[in-house]
Amino acid sequence: MSQAVAPSLSLHRPLSGQPVSVRRPTREEAEEAVRTLIRWAGDDPAREGLLGTPERIVRAYQEFFSGYGEDPVALLQRTFEETNGYDEIVALKDIRFESHCEHHIAPIIGKVHVAYLPDKRVVGISKLARLVDVFAKRLQIQEKMTAQIANTLDDVLQPKGVAVVIEAAHQCMTTRGVHKPGITMVTSRMLGAFRDDPLSRREVLAMIGTPGGAKLDNV
Ligand SMILES: [Zn+2]
Repeated sequence: MSQAVAPSLSLHRPLSGQPVSVRRPTREEAEEAVRTLIRWAGDDPAREGLLGTPERIVRAYQEFFSGYGEDPVALLQRTFEETNGYDEIVALKDIRFESHCEHHIAPIIGKVHVAYLPDKRVVGISKLARLVDVFAKRLQIQEKMTAQIANTLDDVLQPKGVAVVIEAAHQCMTTRGVHKPGITMVTSRMLGAFRDDPLSRREVLAMIGTPGGAKLDNV
């Protein structure tokens, strides 16, 4: 299979929510901030059971927010042009993701369904799953994450259509605030043929399932 690097891109639409440059605190400063929050919760960070907690939290943050260190456009640059004329929908269903809401830093856990209608270029399916993680591993709101995934695919692959549907549960709604478990939030972004052509839209929705109809297990 021949591989080609996509031509350099001029992104016509800014990808909102790109990492901003802020001074990164030292690890010690970050751990001290965790000790402050422990005191805010009403406990003693010097207590034996909590001694290692700041270090663990800071390490967990590196994992939760690893998406800031990755470039989603560069991730998709390596595409395949030899498709033997394949011009039907490519869909990836049920990509599980874990993210954190930017309002409460509470987990958002759910599934992403991604589909596109290729125009000459396709991309490896593992790249689609990694693209989801690049945006999930940041402070997010579900609507923004949906648009970011769709817009990046649209910009880099320049396909005939892109569809992204996300179904997720927000722990800031289940464990605090209104305390309403069992609610799934569904967001979608359709571009190109999936936005403009009702038949294509129906076809892609049939492939990636009825939004809201899927069960979210283990959330
Ligand atoms: Zn929230």
